[in-house]
Amino acid sequence: MIDDNLRASRLTADQRPDLQLSFEFFPPKTDAMEERFWDSINRLAPLSPRFVSVTYGAGGSTRERTLRMVRRITTDTGVPAAAHLTCVGATRDEVDEVVRGYRDAGVNRIVALRGDPPEGVGQPFTPHPDGYQNAADLVAGIRRIGDFDISVAAYPEKHPQSADWDADIDNLKRKIDAGADRAITQMFFSNADFLRYLERARKAGITAPIVPGIQPIHSFRQISGFAARCGASIPHWLAERFDGLDEDPETHALMASAVAAEQVTELLDEGITEFHFYTLNRSNLVLALARLLGRRP
Ligand code: FAD
Repeated sequence: MIDDNLRASRLTADQRPDLQLSFEFFPPKTDAMEERFWDSINRLAPLSPRFVSVTYGAGGSTRERTLRMVRRITTDTGVPAAAHLTCVGATRDEVDEVVRGYRDAGVNRIVALRGDPPEGVGQPFTPHPDGYQNAADLVAGIRRIGDFDISVAAYPEKHPQSADWDADIDNLKRKIDAGADRAITQMFFSNADFLRYLERARKAGITAPIVPGIQPIHSFRQISGFAARCGASIPHWLAERFDGLDEDPETHALMASAVAAEQVTELLDEGITEFHFYTLNRSNLVLALARLLGRRP
């Protein structure tokens, strides 16, 4: 049995280590979605996140909406906003213009990504002939433009296009060496995968924070689809927990909170103090998880 004194999740508020939380949103497409977006932002803002980030639609398809949202988050809520940015299908000049647009709007945090080809993550990536070659190249480009706080992506189960673990970790190292401040991981459901990844990165000399990306399972069917597309696996025990709950939303919702609670509590007890939540523009579950970690409005 683990002594409660050795578990961060059992310590009192004054004994607990300082936490850093961040919340990821996607730019809403409709008025109704926008209402939910702002409602969720307003409910999560009092948790004092390090930042709230807004994704960049495939191939830059949400360029204007992403900028509009991050600008408003900063001005309306005072919470620092981070804009995601990809370099797929764009020239360096086009990407640099977006970076300058962020800077001029007072947004000084960027989540810098390569992005995927329009055909999907399974397809080979060909950089634009005049474009940034990959995320490491993009990070170096952003650094040349201004003093941004830069996050990059990391993959506890290896990026599907990395030939092997060494190639994957080398790539993360290149992104950090190019000037990234931290890495945020792809969703994962087995904490062992994340902890092994952390060990691999530390052994390779990567000292920058690697923040677990936590995906609450609002809909098992939807999240399984996302996971398959981005190369994250669904452990058999997780599938079993949600099996047969498609028609039982109440038990599904309770199971979702139980699963996410177990995941973050285990990570906290393993000494993890930074968490990034994929909110899908919803706040309920994330509010409860933050409370579980000891963070209240
Ligand atoms: P990179 O770090 O460039 O790596 C991609 C792959 O290419 C790796 O396998 C790497 O090993 C390999 N590679 C890189 N350079 C070389 C080289 N020189 N030679 C050989 N192989 C190389 N996508 C969006 O479209 N919009 C978003 O807002 C968005 N947000 C995300 C946020 C997070 C936290 C995460 C984890 C992912 C996000 N993505 C987003 C998805 C991301 O764009 C994809 O996962 C994409 O496939 C890889 O992007 P990357 O930045 O990790 O690429």
